[in-house]
Amino acid sequence: MLWPGLKKLGKELGLKRTNSEVVGMVKNCFIRMFDGNNKKVLEIFSPQIDHTDKIHIEGILKQNKIKNHDWMINGVRIIFNEYVCPYSTVKIKNLLFILVEYFSQKYSDNIPQCHNCGIQKEADIYFVGNTSNYICADCLKKMEKDINNEYWEYKQLPTNYFSGFIGALLFAIPGIIITILFFVFFHKLAAVSALVYIALGIKGYKVFKGKITPLGAFIVIIVGLIMIGVGIIMAYSVSIFKKMKTIDMDMLIRILKMPEVEEELSMNIILSYVISSFLIVFQLFEMVKEWRFLKKIQKARKI
Ligand SMILES: [Zn+2]
Repeated sequence: MLWPGLKKLGKELGLKRTNSEVVGMVKNCFIRMFDGNNKKVLEIFSPQIDHTDKIHIEGILKQNKIKNHDWMINGVRIIFNEYVCPYSTVKIKNLLFILVEYFSQKYSDNIPQCHNCGIQKEADIYFVGNTSNYICADCLKKMEKDINNEYWEYKQLPTNYFSGFIGALLFAIPGIIITILFFVFFHKLAAVSALVYIALGIKGYKVFKGKITPLGAFIVIIVGLIMIGVGIIMAYSVSIFKKMKTIDMDMLIRILKMPEVEEELSMNIILSYVISSFLIVFQLFEMVKEWRFLKKIQKARKI
């Protein structure tokens, strides 16, 4: 995640950004910053780091009342907890400068290591998978080749849209059961069941080996929309059977076709669609994102 505070700080420092991180070089240190759950995270990679450095840094962190940090290979990850207010980016900037100054003075001749091969040489920042890395040209070429191979293999996979569709349909059945139970026992139509339809639909789609593509995401959503409608109609039917104390299909169809019942049903279906629409858009986005990662290395871009 990336919120405006860190984005602004990154811009001020002349750093770049990816979808979720602010990244770049400050002096000869590679910096990575991002927003987490109730926290901001700053990662500083030094060209080198030894035991004396660690003791020195721990002293600085203690002075700045920072309790959470951990060591990475050639770097430190500092966690700024945010319980109520956002952590001050000015404080983060000051600390960053103190640490970078320390590293750049001590290792003035060194340049950062490529995160992939560990060799100190000229490199650039790339977002691969789900994190940014400092990667040299040789490693980049190799990674691109691997990813192209992976993408080629992925393209050879059978599409399996139909079995994915069936999987999404089958896995969404618990959503219908939840809708029916909520309606029969609490007289409420559970909008939350829409969440279950989509989440289980995705699971089912993947279990049945549906191919992850934008069309796959579309299939899961269509199944979700169908199941929301089916769930509501079934919830009404079960409730009508319960009132009639008998299972009479002809009677049920006659009742469902009554204009006022039909109107109420459509209203409930539309309402459920509206409530679940934000979730559907989110899921579509997530699934397409997963698909994009299958084939992409992104270069960090300007803030
Ligand atoms: Zn390399």
